Amino acid sequence: MIYLDNAATTRMRPEVLEAMLPYLQDAFGNASAGYALARQAHGALDAAREQMRSALHAEKAREVYFTSGGTESDNWAIKGAALANRQKGRHIVTTAVEHHAVLETCEALGREGFSVTYLRPDGEGRVSPEMVRRAVRPDTVLVSVMWANNEVGTVNPIAEIGAFARERGILFHVDAVQAVGHLPIDVVQAKVDLLSLSAHKFHGPKGVGALYIREGVRVADLMDGGAQERGRRAGTENVAGIVGMGEAMRLAEEELSMEAARQSAIRDHMIRRALLEVPGAVLNGSREHRLPGNVNLSVPGVRSEVTLFKMDMAGIACSGGSACTAGAIGASHVLLAMGLPDARVQSAVRFSFSRDTTRGEVDAAVEELKRIAAAKR
Ligand code: PLP
Repeated sequence: MIYLDNAATTRMRPEVLEAMLPYLQDAFGNASAGYALARQAHGALDAAREQMRSALHAEKAREVYFTSGGTESDNWAIKGAALANRQKGRHIVTTAVEHHAVLETCEALGREGFSVTYLRPDGEGRVSPEMVRRAVRPDTVLVSVMWANNEVGTVNPIAEIGAFARERGILFHVDAVQAVGHLPIDVVQAKVDLLSLSAHKFHGPKGVGALYIREGVRVADLMDGGAQERGRRAGTENVAGIVGMGEAMRLAEEELSMEAARQSAIRDHMIRRALLEVPGAVLNGSREHRLPGNVNLSVPGVRSEVTLFKMDMAGIACSGGSACTAGAIGASHVLLAMGLPDARVQSAVRFSFSRDTTRGEVDAAVEELKRIAAAKR
């Protein structure tokens, strides 16, 4: 099988499993207890927290809170920031191309009396600081913009938006689920207040993630209960999962610049070949501001589901949009918000890479795409 759907999820690295195993077996202690077995678990959580701090370039490890993944982090950041600051105002600015974890959370707040502005990006899916500047109002309490888009891979000018939000005293949340482990992240330099990430997008386990909350930022707690995560996110910690995330983060950091360059070269090779050799193929998203491992192509006239079916038959796994919307009828909200014509929206296919992806695999996908496009004509 040729797996080109790494934006949906990645294969866990063997080193990650190896690091997790002791905590699923002999080192099974509850990190909240007082004896040696528990201290071992607690120490492992501390080490993973420090690993995450270092990767995000956060100032303090205690600014990192472990969660069950990207969806929970997005919910906590947005609902928590909105609710804790509601006396200041009830307006939120986000973008129309966010993941559903952000969009649905904002819609839920809309039903609670908040008003939400959904910015329409440019034709490449990019949001500018100027768009944000025009949308904010005196009652804006939160701006939420994703670091990189999960469908088209477009990377936003996060540091510039962060500088603007900080200057205006507006909280800034970033869904960095597709960026962490793939692009250099510096929360201090980018002036980010809240940042969501998810381990399974960088070869860690599923069901574990983190939310960075800059010290001093007021955010309501989402889970009430025990004293875990400094009383802010109750519930016995997923120690093995968190250890796995820490190890996956360490490994991703180690090879980040090398992998980004390698995958970017494969990406550009695939784009070049597809545009040249697949009749009618067009690239969705930005050529310049793009995740190293994302290629999103449309072949107008060849519907996405047909391409996906034929790719699957050929042993190639790719996606028609985000995994959450695949299988559901309906066009991609991202491509629609970018203002692309229907024929392009209905024929989009996403290929996403990882450290395991080779040039040969990408060439095989292009060859298959050529066959699929030719059969249609
Ligand atoms: N945000 C983005 C941009 C994503 O791509 C995803 C997953 O696809 C999520 C949030 C949700 O993350 P999780 O699967 O960890 O809940």
